[in-house]
Amino acid sequence: RAKEAGRNTFQFYAAEMNQRLLARLNLERDLRQAVERNEFLLHYQPQINLTNGAIIGVEALVRWRQPEQGIIPPDEFIPLAEETGLIVQLGKWVLREACRQARAWHDAGLPKIGISVNLSARQFREPGLKQTILDMLAETGLEARFLEMEITESMVMFDPEGAIAVLDELQQQGITFAMDDFGTGYSSLNYLKRFPIHKLKIDQSFVRNITTDSNDAAITNAVIELAHGLKLKVIAEGVETEEQRSFLRAHQCDEMQGYLFSRPVPAEDIVNLLIANNQLLAAPVNNIDESS
Ligand code: C2E
Ligand code: MG
Ligand code: MG
Ligand code: MG
Repeated sequence: RAKEAGRNTFQFYAAEMNQRLLARLNLERDLRQAVERNEFLLHYQPQINLTNGAIIGVEALVRWRQPEQGIIPPDEFIPLAEETGLIVQLGKWVLREACRQARAWHDAGLPKIGISVNLSARQFREPGLKQTILDMLAETGLEARFLEMEITESMVMFDPEGAIAVLDELQQQGITFAMDDFGTGYSSLNYLKRFPIHKLKIDQSFVRNITTDSNDAAITNAVIELAHGLKLKVIAEGVETEEQRSFLRAHQCDEMQGYLFSRPVPAEDIVNLLIANNQLLAAPVNNIDESS
């Protein structure tokens, strides 16, 4: 009987594994088609200067408009795109579209904001990365100083010396780098000081409880001080409440990004946010800086 139970368990697992494998294969096929059929779109989330409330940039976040299922978030397809290598083609599209959009906003006479684009590990390892980025800038006419690439600790710690060379080259072209999800990976402080990056992004997992958890508050403060000590800017991700914003501002965090100001939205909505933001900042009596 024990034997039979064992066999049943095995069959159960086998069936489950088959189902998972099938789902994965289907997703892979759909994703491949999606890249060919251009089913992707970008949403943009504003980044705010905590001192004066100005929108200083937006992060481009990819979405998949799946014909049957609707909008699929990146966490559900980026890992597979990465594994299959499809990310290289998708990443190029994201970069081109983000640069094109930023240039279009600039051309429309809106305040000149920066654009942040997420890089994947696979893209970072591509030998042609530098040329791809330079081509996209040339093609769209976006000035390099407005493009920020978001990298992660694991991406650069895999081969720190190689990463420094890549970052150095791009940085010399005027492109800036931000370390995304900072604190969730493994960084060596020794290397951190050598990476030519401009900004640390404090991961939302620390920001979430800064006003209630003293450990998260301590980590957040330490990251802000570390960033400033290394002459880097620091932005907090996932800011959802007024309390979190006040805390970050009181602790000299430079910028914030999160649902409190805006969720990631389609490009059209960014135009309205920029216009409203500009009017607010230009208003004679209004002052965002409530401490003055
Ligand atoms: P990320 O780069 O750390 O992006 C921030 C994520 O946090 C976004 O999720 C954003 O919608 C979400 N977020 C922003 N503010 C808040 C908030 O106040 N509260 C909460 N709970 N969440 C907030 P999203 O758009 O689903 O993207 C998830 C991840 O997918 C990104 O994390 C990034 O790692 C990856 N990703 C997105 N677009 C791309 C892309 O074009 N290329 C690559 N390689 N990865 C991308
Ligand atoms: Mg990011
Ligand atoms: Mg992040
Ligand atoms: Mg993330």
